[in-house]
Amino acid sequence: VIAQDPAPAALLQPLLHGEAPAQRRALAKAITLLESTRPDHRRQADALLNALLPHTGRAWRLGISGVPGVGKSTFIEALGLHLIGLGHRVAVLAVDPSSSVSGGSILGDKTRMEKLSTHERAFIRPSPSGGNLGGVAARTREAMLVCEAAGYDVVIVETVGVGQSETAVADMTDMFCVLQLPNAGDDLQAIKKGIMELADLIVINKADLDPDAATRAQAQITSALRLLGLHGGAHGEPGAWMPRVLQLSALQAQGIEAFWQAVQEYRALQEASGRLTQRRQRQARAWMWERIDAGLREAFAHHPAVRERLPALTAEVLAGRVVASAAARELLACFGVGWIDGPSL
Ligand code: GDP
Repeated sequence: VIAQDPAPAALLQPLLHGEAPAQRRALAKAITLLESTRPDHRRQADALLNALLPHTGRAWRLGISGVPGVGKSTFIEALGLHLIGLGHRVAVLAVDPSSSVSGGSILGDKTRMEKLSTHERAFIRPSPSGGNLGGVAARTREAMLVCEAAGYDVVIVETVGVGQSETAVADMTDMFCVLQLPNAGDDLQAIKKGIMELADLIVINKADLDPDAATRAQAQITSALRLLGLHGGAHGEPGAWMPRVLQLSALQAQGIEAFWQAVQEYRALQEASGRLTQRRQRQARAWMWERIDAGLREAFAHHPAVRERLPALTAEVLAGRVVASAAARELLACFGVGWIDGPSL
């Protein structure tokens, strides 16, 4: 059914071939369309995305994370302006599931990146709001594809340094960078091991505030990476990228060139080894299954027979009268998957 819906031509043409102002308007409209929860909008958005897909994939997808105040927006503004100077077009998106709670997002906010946001070669969009992390991440991935089709060749996805949103962003980008403060080395406990494993590049920002501390942090984090076997240790396969630690000052725009140089080296290595293709394929497959899981869960929760039986069965399980797995089987049977039999259920 989805494939038969025509892509909205009014959006498709200006997105792919429009002049700057018309294209920008179409881009904003397209992203609004795919953020809509109306079923007819969703079908149009899917048709649009499928039509755009052949024009995607050529951009470099860069994830940026760090706690509030570490300097993400200052850094993205400095990097974005540097990249525009090199002839790139830069899109900045954000993943912030908390925006559904606060009603507004502080990430990807235009007022935080004043110079970049007014530049005609940049496009900045705050996090989709509402819904759970999976939904926010899915819409950001889709927005990324639309930006790529519109010719943005660097897409930056920003997130806050908390919990699952970092994993979500690492799972939709080609390279994941974590910003740290200069005193990070003093408290390595504060740098979660999981984040070290996700990061392809760790950036000590605000090096201008305390150059000695920044150099210390760089050394400490580098040796921590080595201990974890993530820095050319025993687990490093030949030709694999070794996560790097850089220091810079986003405020003074110092170290931006070296940062982009490291990104270029990483990209060259990933492309030559085929790891970039592998990473994107892995991400696309995982994204599809994540959406299938989410869709099934939702359909299950809305199924009339399930809804009818769920409260009583939950009460039985809580009271210790029915085994949880038996209750699950019965509910799944209500949903129509009673034919599944075997060890997985
Ligand atoms: P975000 O919350 O991670 O986006 O952080 P911001 O970019 O908003 O920066 C938080 C504060 O740190 C602002 O007052 C910035 O001016 C300041 N800041 C950001 N980068 C640097 C830096 O490299 N050096 C110094 N001294 N201050 C910085």
